[in-house]
Amino acid sequence: MRFNTSLLHGRKSGFDSTGATLPPVYQVSAFAHESAEELERIFGSRAPGFTYTRASNPTTAAFERRMAQAEGGAAAVSCSSGLAAVAMALLNIVQSGGEILSGSSLFGGTLDLFEDLKAFGIRTRFLPKVTPAAVEENMTPATRAVFAEIIGNPRLDVIDVRGVAAAAEKHGVPLIVDSTTATPALIRPLEHGAHVVVHSSSKYINGSGDAISGVIVDGGTFRWDFEKYPMLARYRSFGSLAYTARLRQDLCRNFGTCLSPQNAYLNCIGLETLGVRMERLCANALALAEYLRTFPALSDVNYPGLPDSPYRALTESQMKSGMGGAILTVRAGSKRRAFSLMDHLKYALIATNIGDVRTLVIHPASTIYALSDPRQRQSAGVYDDLIRISVGLEDIEDLKEDFAQAIRNMEQ
Ligand SMILES: *Cc1c(COP(=O)(O)O)cnc(C)c1O
Repeated sequence: MRFNTSLLHGRKSGFDSTGATLPPVYQVSAFAHESAEELERIFGSRAPGFTYTRASNPTTAAFERRMAQAEGGAAAVSCSSGLAAVAMALLNIVQSGGEILSGSSLFGGTLDLFEDLKAFGIRTRFLPKVTPAAVEENMTPATRAVFAEIIGNPRLDVIDVRGVAAAAEKHGVPLIVDSTTATPALIRPLEHGAHVVVHSSSKYINGSGDAISGVIVDGGTFRWDFEKYPMLARYRSFGSLAYTARLRQDLCRNFGTCLSPQNAYLNCIGLETLGVRMERLCANALALAEYLRTFPALSDVNYPGLPDSPYRALTESQMKSGMGGAILTVRAGSKRRAFSLMDHLKYALIATNIGDVRTLVIHPASTIYALSDPRQRQSAGVYDDLIRISVGLEDIEDLKEDFAQAIRNMEQ
């Protein structure tokens, strides 16, 4: 089965006998059982079943199975948001005294999270460029995870997943990638050697901008050293799935980061059309990037799928059909001009999101990166005149006309 077919006909849910094509929404908190003995067995993981939705729920489990399949992973755990997924994916294996080695080109919320982790004794070393050499040079005995976004949001730099994963693994450390902006329609990072994939599934996976959620997919390929990762030792019996076992039975349950069944259901709908949406979104993004470059009023049109992008080679070699994602950035010359251009757009909405069906624009410096210091902004590629465009499914000619009139009418 190829990718789009598998999204529709892949692993069936296995708990529904009605033939329903989508999982029902089990909108309940608790599950009743025939006997106290049975509940004891389920609590003790000695029998399958559900107890309480913070621990697991059939609808969220259906979404998790579908995500594990879409990424070619061994198991998936869903979370209430993308940031909850990033936090849980790391806290599952990094404790006080441990270090995260991370790309510095990150989503602003993730930068803020890493700042918060300092109070828990977890430090992050930021790499300006995530290359295999940089990873090797900056490893320390305290490093417990290498973290990077595959296509950085919004710097739009692309990492060499295979090379970086190999460099991390050489030092006994897993590579955790945030693949929100790439999605499994463009790249399945686990097949390139990454060990864990996280998503803000609020974005392209949901696809309609109607639910916040996140997901962690475990490749099940990393060989955990229980001396280096003592927190996983009690899950030794799960073998290569010790990481997922601790997430499920311990961290996500105890931090209470569960996904609501309703949102899991909405994501199941979105996931089914991910492949076709990404094709159209990426085609629109490339066409809009090429068009916007023709305007002298703008500079630095950045899109990793452009033929002369420094990331073109990595896009070609790793991403399906060389697709470069659906986000591009432009520089308008000043903050005032950036605001003016945005205010003149008719179709592109001013909103802080990506991966919607609609085109969205934002001025990252004054919003998502408002809390970041100038150095963090610089390394995340956030300039005072930068506009981020998350391209939608509109007809490309309408998008071109809209941007053309906004550029014509913007303050000079
Ligand atoms: C949006 C986003 C997040 C955070 O996800 P939420 O669902 O908003 O919590 C994390 N990483 C990237 C790359 C994102 O774009």
